[in-house]
Amino acid sequence: MFKERVELGAESYTVQYSSDPYVSLGSALYPYQGKKIMMILDENVDSIFGHILMSHFNASCHSPIKFVFPAGEENKTLEQATRLVDFALQKNFNRDDVFLIIGGGVVGDMGAFAASLCLRGIPVIQVPTTLLAQVDSSIGGKTGVNHIKGKNLIGTFYQPKQVIVSPYFYRTLPEREMRTGFGEVIKYAMIKSQALFNQLNGWLNENPLSEAKNYPETFWESILGQCVHIKSTVVSEDEKESGLRMILNYGHTFGHAIETATQYSQYTHGEAIAIGMNMAALIARGMGLCEESLVLEQQALLRLAGLPVQADGLEINDLFNIIKVDKKVKNGKLTLVLPEKIGTVRIVPDIDEGEIYKILQEVMP
Ligand code: ADP
Ligand code: ZN
Repeated sequence: MFKERVELGAESYTVQYSSDPYVSLGSALYPYQGKKIMMILDENVDSIFGHILMSHFNASCHSPIKFVFPAGEENKTLEQATRLVDFALQKNFNRDDVFLIIGGGVVGDMGAFAASLCLRGIPVIQVPTTLLAQVDSSIGGKTGVNHIKGKNLIGTFYQPKQVIVSPYFYRTLPEREMRTGFGEVIKYAMIKSQALFNQLNGWLNENPLSEAKNYPETFWESILGQCVHIKSTVVSEDEKESGLRMILNYGHTFGHAIETATQYSQYTHGEAIAIGMNMAALIARGMGLCEESLVLEQQALLRLAGLPVQADGLEINDLFNIIKVDKKVKNGKLTLVLPEKIGTVRIVPDIDEGEIYKILQEVMP
């Protein structure tokens, strides 16, 4: 059992590990006795966990109102968020009632976005149900929905009151979802922890990812604890992403470009950032910032987690055009998070676009 405090002054909250999320939910909801609870899920999570969640609530005399979003990134829209706000207002929600958001990153981002708008802020408890959402999107207070011009372009910063993370939810998670979560886990190792990197390497060598559903709780508690600690420390130091928080974007400049170039259909987020991290390492190597061995070790671990390191059929030109449109290139210069050693990255500003282009051309097939 770990409890990690995200230090943000009056907005501070805890991320709590739990082997039994139902028990932890009971405690988290204790302060809201007699208040209205909106349980927010998507249709998949509802069909798997909705019934058992409701039976636990009935046993503890809470009677939440349920709101179900359609599943999928394509439904992460302003219209859907507004639908939730409308529903909460119709049900006479007040600012001391609570939204309980149970699901992957899509529902987490969209539910918290709606919460931040409704009456200028309804308290939120997040129960992320995917590995990716547990180590990443549920912590840090970024909320949002997509716009036709891009992902998460409409959003707010809004911190939850509490986050509960539990491997209980993994038993129904598709293997590809598990792998995509490992993309972010490996990112944390690369940016902050050689020890985590070694642990993952040792573990995945002995215990293939296809067996992830049978990994013991002790493994998950250790991994989740380390990732949550890294994320919460970075977020506490830099809530609104002015500097340090940028290191969390390791692999993401190219990763996002790959997702856009392939219309979000070919690669999951974790797969795209795996390729992005490999590109970042190749650039760092080309600039003399790291050793060749780092590139190879990172590739080996990504492969062990079943993640790609190269984008098939993607042109470097196409990626650059997207990065330019994203305004990530200013006056032909780009800021990138590049690895120096395993566990240490550096924010490198003013890199010449041409230099990156040349390195990538040499190393990409
Ligand atoms: P993320 O951004 O966290 O990867 P999404 O919100 O896009 O995830 O969720 C991915 C898919 O997995 C969605 O279809 C969602 O309904 C489903 N899902 C979320 N959690 C679980 C779970 N614990 N078991 C099975 N499916 C889940
Ligand atoms: Zn990410």
